Amino acid sequence: MSQVSRDKLVIGNWKMHGGKDENQRRLDALLRHAPERTHGVQIGICVPFPYLAQTEQALRRSEIAWGTQDISAHNSGAYTGEVSATMAADFGVRYVIVGHSERRSLHLESLATIARKARRALESGMTPVVCVGETLEERETERTKEVVSSQVAGILDEIPENLWLKLVFAYEPVWAIGTGRTASPAQAQEVHAHIRELLSSRFTECVRVPILYGGSVKAMNAPDLFGEADVDGALVGGASLDSIEFAAICIAAADRASLISAS
Ligand code: PEP
Repeated sequence: MSQVSRDKLVIGNWKMHGGKDENQRRLDALLRHAPERTHGVQIGICVPFPYLAQTEQALRRSEIAWGTQDISAHNSGAYTGEVSATMAADFGVRYVIVGHSERRSLHLESLATIARKARRALESGMTPVVCVGETLEERETERTKEVVSSQVAGILDEIPENLWLKLVFAYEPVWAIGTGRTASPAQAQEVHAHIRELLSSRFTECVRVPILYGGSVKAMNAPDLFGEADVDGALVGGASLDSIEFAAICIAAADRASLISAS
């Protein structure tokens, strides 16, 4: 499928790393090194909840957005330890990662819960970044498309159609997350094109929904991944902890975006 005009989007996921001083150094470095020419590329950083205020303070005058790595499926009430979407929205959050494979596997989050979390984020005016992807065993038994199809369908079935355009999907093969093993650009493109087809079969306008790739993205492999027609950017874990490396990934996205707009 040919590339339509979709902005590139690069989102960092700090996971459970950092601390006040370390974050400040990381945020300052990001502001120094992120591309000045952000035309055609959007950048976001998803931080642990306690550092939302610090991140908002550091980034609010910049073009860089910030977000969370999870959100409660509930609006409010007796849910000890949970953080609601409206609470996150109080800190200017734009992106909310939902359904990260670490939450699916370590916290046993079901597809129904993930879909409700995506809905809560949308209802509070934020953008859910919905992670989908297969395990190694599922890939090796040729069930990748089947698994990804049911994950995408589970989300669309829970979200009202008028909000579908506000979704972001991240294809994150579980075997590539934090392992140093990246899907090849062709492997990523094959699944991205499949997700694109699934979306388009439900709603033509869904061709505009960004599909990010995640799984050991680095400055070195980003340009080739971004060269694929349906790879609209990246969800970056480990490499986002090094702001210079992360900025280089954002620059690769900006370069790709300017190539597309010039063609
Ligand atoms: C992630 O946490 O979403 C991720 C893709 O991690 P990494 O880039 O470290 O593989």
